[in-house]
Amino acid sequence: DPTIPSHRRVLLKLSGETFGGGDVGLAADVVQRIAGEIAVAVRAGVQVAVVCGGGNFFRGAELSQRGLDRARADYMGMLGTVMNCLALQDFLEQAGVSTRVQTAIAMGQVAEPYIPLRAIRHLEKGRVVIFGAGAGMPYFSTDTVCVQRALETHCQEVLMGKNGVDAVYTADPRKDPKAERLEHLTYTEAIVGDLGVMDQTALSMARDNDIAMRVFGLEETGNVTRALEGEKIGTLVTA
Ligand code: UDP
Repeated sequence: DPTIPSHRRVLLKLSGETFGGGDVGLAADVVQRIAGEIAVAVRAGVQVAVVCGGGNFFRGAELSQRGLDRARADYMGMLGTVMNCLALQDFLEQAGVSTRVQTAIAMGQVAEPYIPLRAIRHLEKGRVVIFGAGAGMPYFSTDTVCVQRALETHCQEVLMGKNGVDAVYTADPRKDPKAERLEHLTYTEAIVGDLGVMDQTALSMARDNDIAMRVFGLEETGNVTRALEGEKIGTLVTA
């Protein structure tokens, strides 16, 4: 099958919370550290695509509660993700990694448009491809985009980097002392249990198309490299 990549190819999700360090705006030190960890894996031969969230700037659902039209608010959310893409791109280039940003909303001065075959060529050449502006469609989330982009660019695994947790638990470990850490679970279990892995649309899309996902904690130094290189950290979610 010519669509199966000869090297490990993975898609990393970085949420807006990561980019903002929990605040509004950019936590440059965090982005720089993660870029350095991605660079290590790229030099080891891993092909890396990244989807950036944007919740550190705007979330459409929140803005619409403050009176904005939901669809327009979602476009604001999507534009926010692009700023995160550019920040990651900058620190990756500083770390000596070649990159391309591709956005689902055309903005020729700052990024290429999303062209799947071109994204694959970039990955084959060892460039990190950073996907921005979500799906370009209101009412979607960047989690759903992760699954879609991973499928279309033939990534073997989606790597969900998380803040505040290092795996999937049976309940929120910050609130429930009896919460159990899970090594593995199925998408159906994640959907039924509403375990906060990613949103339900994304989970059912991943299940229906049988792509694996690893949920891991971003904060521990080296974890991004470990996840990219295929170490079995965190929790594996499969169909
Ligand atoms: N968004 C959207 N369509 C997409 C992806 C994102 O409308 O395909 C908007 C939506 O308003 C969302 C915001 O962009 O709240 C930021 O993305 P997301 O909340 O997924 O980022 P994260 O939670 O990862 O920070």
